[in-house]
Amino acid sequence: MCDRLLAEGHAVVGVDNFLTGAEQNITHLMGHPRFRFVSHDITQPLSVADPLDAVVNMASPASPKDYLEHPIETLDVGSAGTRNTLELARAKSARYLLTSTSECYGDPLVHPQVETYWGNVNPVGPRSCYDESKRFAEALTMAYHRTHGLRTNIARIFNTYGPRMKLDDGRVVPAFVYQALRGEPITIFGDGTQTRSFCYVSDLVDGLYRLMHSDEHYPVNLGNPDEMTILEFAERIRGLTGSSSPIVSRPLPEDDPRQRQPDISKARRLLNWEPRVPLEEGLRLTLDHFRGHTSSQLFIGR
Ligand code: UDP
Repeated sequence: MCDRLLAEGHAVVGVDNFLTGAEQNITHLMGHPRFRFVSHDITQPLSVADPLDAVVNMASPASPKDYLEHPIETLDVGSAGTRNTLELARAKSARYLLTSTSECYGDPLVHPQVETYWGNVNPVGPRSCYDESKRFAEALTMAYHRTHGLRTNIARIFNTYGPRMKLDDGRVVPAFVYQALRGEPITIFGDGTQTRSFCYVSDLVDGLYRLMHSDEHYPVNLGNPDEMTILEFAERIRGLTGSSSPIVSRPLPEDDPRQRQPDISKARRLLNWEPRVPLEEGLRLTLDHFRGHTSSQLFIGR
């Protein structure tokens, strides 16, 4: 997102405490004349001296492994963090973009998921720290819009992947790529019949950029509608990497959603947006990155 904003000619103040992110993902921006970085935890109040046109709140652990390790921080960032960034936008008369999640739909009973569906979330299950945090963040954003007239947008992001993901963040794309490249067993949780659809990061960022220029304050789904089972996905990764890794089954995590596919009619209509990068191409770019940046890690033990 920072890369895109800078490429469009904007000045960017990046804020992160790197609870789950990696500093090396922004080293190429350090020294850029229009980029400034502030090391800060947004659950604490935040002041920025610069004038601001927009505040983009993308802060949260987002991988199930990460938010299960940091459930309280995850709830804090969706509540206090959202509040502090909304206050910043209000103080600066800036517009505000919240990046929410398809997890708001929980284990959905409506398929594909449309924005008007209210969801099927277990409020006390292990994933609730993320789902309810984001649902609260959406509610708070709508309250600021209604109470203070703040110009707000809410994106519901579906599974997204690409270069610069952490190899060990536990999500299915880095997990399968890592296992396939090392020739280790590819671990399918459950029987692999659950579905997901994967959006390449540049498509997602383009959707966010378009959304933050629109006046739509209700949520908009952003994701790729190309749905497949996790078993099919494992086979695609194995084919692409030329790996002979066996596919093995591991226990299905509690409350793992059975199916997930965005209905993106609203984004098509309002933003003239749809994903353009086919899965094969996106995975190739991701593989190149993982091969190039992690060869020492990948080939340990070979
Ligand atoms: N998954 C899997 N093996 C793995 C990691 C994930 O089968 O090593 C499955 C997981 O159970 C889920 C899907 O892949 O059904 C996507 O998981 P991910 O953690 O990437 O994101 P989620 O969509 O659950 O937020």
